[in-house]
Amino acid sequence: MTTPSRAEISRLPEYSLPDLDLPGCEKVVQLAQNELAIAPSPAAVQAAGAALQTMNLYPEAESGLRQAIAEVHRLNPAQLLIGAGSLELMSLLTNAYCERGSEVVVSQYGYKFFQVLCTTAGATLCVVPEPDMRVDFDAIAAAVGEHTRLVFVVTPGNPTGACLPAGAVRELRESIPARVMLIVDCAYAEFAEQQGGFESGFDLVDDGENLVVLRTFSKAYGLAGMRVGWAYAPPDVVSTIQKIRPPTSTASPSLAAAEAAMRDRAHLRYICTEIAELREAFSEHARSLGLRVLPSTTNFVLFECPGNLPLSAAELDARLRENGVILRPMGSYDLPNHLRISIGSRADMAFVNEVFSRLLG
Ligand code: PLP
Repeated sequence: MTTPSRAEISRLPEYSLPDLDLPGCEKVVQLAQNELAIAPSPAAVQAAGAALQTMNLYPEAESGLRQAIAEVHRLNPAQLLIGAGSLELMSLLTNAYCERGSEVVVSQYGYKFFQVLCTTAGATLCVVPEPDMRVDFDAIAAAVGEHTRLVFVVTPGNPTGACLPAGAVRELRESIPARVMLIVDCAYAEFAEQQGGFESGFDLVDDGENLVVLRTFSKAYGLAGMRVGWAYAPPDVVSTIQKIRPPTSTASPSLAAAEAAMRDRAHLRYICTEIAELREAFSEHARSLGLRVLPSTTNFVLFECPGNLPLSAAELDARLRENGVILRPMGSYDLPNHLRISIGSRADMAFVNEVFSRLLG
């Protein structure tokens, strides 16, 4: 007889990652996971290599990385939390602030795995629809009830790629009770920051007690495999999370790489410029082939296959896979006519643009 898991967990479907196996294809371009296909900062690679020399020891304190983040973003280092990816921080926040009977309000196209974490922590999800793929702030505020503990929004959004409008986070915070924590996941912020007009929300953290901003090294810094995320949070949240966070969850090479990457501002600028150029070129090409492409401020693009095209989204996905190109189908977001593409390297995108022309031109 098998040992039963907690009821909330046994009811969860398995979280599906895209199938990355394409047997028989000579060339495979995997653009399904919003990773960075451009090499990270050489200083980060070097720092990680040097840190391998001390792999027999537990990781040292994270003060070097905290200091680097604080200097670059002009933040108080004591209010920074480091985690094994922002996912670890989300998991700690949901565990610390939710229990059975709690409610969590999320927007329809927010980050899916957060919903799994809330359910695991025993909370009930209230998913607020996004008409026209725009976050509906009034509906979010209206959905907050007596038992709501957390409200979670993502900017720029995944899979939409859109930033929340200026002032939106402030207004949302003001429209929910102070006892409810607002978590703003900014995993793709660096791409949007480079374009201007992106509001980090850090000043709002300093203004009150109930806002946490999440950031990651997995996207623009190109360190997804190193698993480092960070949060800027009010002091009370920092001390709560530090009580339950495993003290050695982030490996030494990861901490060293993240610190060096944070200090290499020139490389970050280069990456964001390169990605923006390749993204706009792909978007324009895809539009010229009849696809409906959503504007994006990130390293990915969401597009729809309208009914007048020769291929549906599922057919296009299958043909792309036959040609070695792996995208992310959006069925799990109830968007069966959409696909999401991560922007790859210059060589990847030249190949992808050529395959799209062949299939849809
Ligand atoms: N938040 C969003 C919106 C994401 O898209 C992702 C990863 O795709 C994450 C968080 C996870 O980030 P991390 O690698 O820091 O755990």
